[in-house]
Amino acid sequence: MTSKILHRNVVIVGSGPAGLTAAIYAARADLHPLLIEGPQPGGQLTITTEVENYPGFSKGIQGPELMDEFREQALRFGTEFLVTWIKEVDLSHRPFTLYTDDHIIKTRTLIIASGASARWLGIPGEAPAPQGLGGLGVSACATCDGFFFKGKYIIVVGGGDTAMEEANFLTRYASRVTVVHRRDKLRASKIMQEKAFKNPKIDFIWNADVTEILGTQETGVTGVRLHDTVTGEERELACEGVFVAIGHKPNTDMFRGQLEMDEVGYLITAGRTMATEIPGVFACGDVQDSFYRQAVSAAGTGCMAAIDAERFLDNLPVEMPNGEEATRDGEIITADKESIIRPDGEVIPNKPEEQDGHPGYFQ
Ligand SMILES: Cc1cc2nc3c(=O)[nH]c(=O)nc-3n(C[C@H](O)[C@H](O)[C@H](O)COP(=O)(O)OP(=O)(O)OC[C@H]3O[C@@H](n4cnc5c(N)ncnc54)[C@H](O)[C@@H]3O)c2cc1C
Repeated sequence: MTSKILHRNVVIVGSGPAGLTAAIYAARADLHPLLIEGPQPGGQLTITTEVENYPGFSKGIQGPELMDEFREQALRFGTEFLVTWIKEVDLSHRPFTLYTDDHIIKTRTLIIASGASARWLGIPGEAPAPQGLGGLGVSACATCDGFFFKGKYIIVVGGGDTAMEEANFLTRYASRVTVVHRRDKLRASKIMQEKAFKNPKIDFIWNADVTEILGTQETGVTGVRLHDTVTGEERELACEGVFVAIGHKPNTDMFRGQLEMDEVGYLITAGRTMATEIPGVFACGDVQDSFYRQAVSAAGTGCMAAIDAERFLDNLPVEMPNGEEATRDGEIITADKESIIRPDGEVIPNKPEEQDGHPGYFQ
C-alpha cells in the first residue's frame, strides 16, 4: 500500500494531558496542529478511576471523562486528530519526517508528548478493573492514589529509589507499609534507604516475589501471594492495597540515537523551555519528566511546548546541528551557505540577484 504524505506546521505525538494541552494552545494560535493519538488515546489517565487532584474539578472527576474534556477542547479549536501511532522518525533535517503504517508526515515543528508507562509485574490481579484489581487497590502512583488508603495496610513492591519514595510518602496515610523486595538488599540510593529504614511505619520482606494480587471486584485487594526466592516457599499475606514501584519506561524508543536522553530514556529538554537539542523539536509531559509525573504538570509543560513551537516558527530561519539553516517556508540553506534547497527539492544559489525575485539569504 502507498503511504499518504502529509505536510504540517506542528505535529504533536501523544494524546495525554501534555499532548492535548499543546494542541489546545497550538490550535488557538492558528497553527492547525495535527495530533497523533498513539496506542493509548487519552493517555495514562484513561486507566484510572477518580482523579481528585486536577485543579478545576472540586468534586473530582473520572480519568477517562477528564481526558474526553481535554480532547473536546482541542477539537473545538480545530486540532486535527490521527488515530495511529508513530513507528519511526527522521529528525536529521527539517521538515522532520514521521512514519506511521499509512502515512509519511512532514512537519516543521514536532512536539513529543508520548508519555511514560509504569512498569508492571505482569501477574494475575494486577490489570485494570474489571480484568484485574487495578483501580480497586492496585496502583503505581502514590501521589495520585495514596489519599485513598487512609488507615490501611499497604504493600509496596520494589527495591529502588521509586519504591522507597512511594513507601515513605504512603506512610502519611497508611497504618503500615511493607516493602516487598526480591533480593536481600535494596538498589535505592543510600539516603533513600536510610529514610525508609528510619521510618517506624515501614517494614521489609526480603527475597520475595509477589506472584498474585488477591481479592475480588466487590472486596478490592485483600492480599498478595508471595514466593520466597531462596526457599521456594509460597504464602499469602493479607493487605488492603498494593503499590507497584518498579520504575517507569518513557516511550522514546523511536527517538533513540536521534535525541539526547538520560540513562533511562527520558528526553532532555533545555533549561526553562521545552526545547530538545534539535531546533524545532520540543518535548513535554512524562516523556521528559521522571520527577513530578502528574497530569497537571504534564499539561503545564504541554502549554509551554506549544508556545515554544509558535515562537520558533515566528523566528525562523534557525541553525540545525549540522550547520544548515531552516527557514519558515521549509527551505534549507546549506551548511556552506552557498545554496538554498527549496521544499520541492530545487537547488538555487544563495545569491539575491540570481534568485528570480526570491528574497534570498546572506552569509
Ligand atoms: C493508574 C494511574 C493513575 C494516575 N492518577 C493520577 C492522578 O490522580 N492525578 C495525576 O495528576 N496524575 C495521575 N497519574 C499520572 C498521569 O496520568 C500522568 O502524569 C500523565 O498522564 C502524563 O501525561 P502525558 O501527556 O505526558 O503522557 P501520557 O498520559 O502517558 O500519554 C502519552 C500519550 O502518548 C501516546 N503515544 C505513546 N507512544 C506513541 C507513539 N509511538 N506514537 C504516537 N503516540 C504515542 C499514547 O497513546 C498516549 O496518548 C496517574 C497515572 C496512572 C498510570
